[in-house]
Amino acid sequence: MKFVRFGEPGAERPGILDRNGAIRDLSGRVDDLAGAVLADLSALSGIDPESLPVVPGTPRLGPCVGQVGKLLCIGLNYSDHAAETGMEAPAEPILFLKANSAICGPNDPIILPRGSQKTDWEVELAAVIGRGGKYIAEEDALDHVAGYCICNDVSERSFQLERLGQWTKGKSSDNFGPLGPWLVTRDEVADPQNLKLWCKVNGETMQDGTTATMIFGVAHLVHYLSQFFTLHPGDVISTGTPPGVGMGKKPQRFLKAGDVVELGVEGLGTQRQQVIADPAG
Ligand code: ZN
Repeated sequence: MKFVRFGEPGAERPGILDRNGAIRDLSGRVDDLAGAVLADLSALSGIDPESLPVVPGTPRLGPCVGQVGKLLCIGLNYSDHAAETGMEAPAEPILFLKANSAICGPNDPIILPRGSQKTDWEVELAAVIGRGGKYIAEEDALDHVAGYCICNDVSERSFQLERLGQWTKGKSSDNFGPLGPWLVTRDEVADPQNLKLWCKVNGETMQDGTTATMIFGVAHLVHYLSQFFTLHPGDVISTGTPPGVGMGKKPQRFLKAGDVVELGVEGLGTQRQQVIADPAG
């Protein structure tokens, strides 16, 4: 099943794609794709999308998960990406948090924060936690995943790396966390460690990788993170990016207003973002 959230920011409603890819309104069945609903998506498996009302037009898509408790991001998790940044491949997962306020819809604009010179793209496979847990065994870990979506881990490199402290402020600007377009249930993703993923800027391919080169796979990440804190339904783990980010180009390339970023993960749809100056000035 492919779930969406559609409507204006903060007022999104749940939907499901029918077999033609049209959005059907799920709001008569569940309030949101969040919390307890994610913990047992199988409860929705009996619903025939064709029996639900068609959503007219082409509404804005919101983030495909509501009420995200934690947006957990893994740094340097592709052997080939670690190499391009000149950093050593990590011995255990590098965890950082992206502020939940950065989360936005898959096609919402990328907003360049004031003073940004080095805003960069990162296509990533994100796993959405369904059933929560703590100290989860690696062999049970994927049973705790409700589904998958795309995350663009948008990053301001000078805020991330050239200012004091750790990475959070370079990762958390408004709209730096597009999630979607769809939450694709786990049963539709045969092997999360064998998915192509790509990113283009103004039509030029920048990233063209595969989750097969991840250092720590999804199952290990769920297990690993749950050793430190409880994972809750609706927590999102963005699993790192393959090579081809702007910071790794020679010469380096970063986003400017007017650029268009498109990204996709095999089976999970695509995102498209226009880059804009911060309307707040
Ligand atoms: Zn990342």
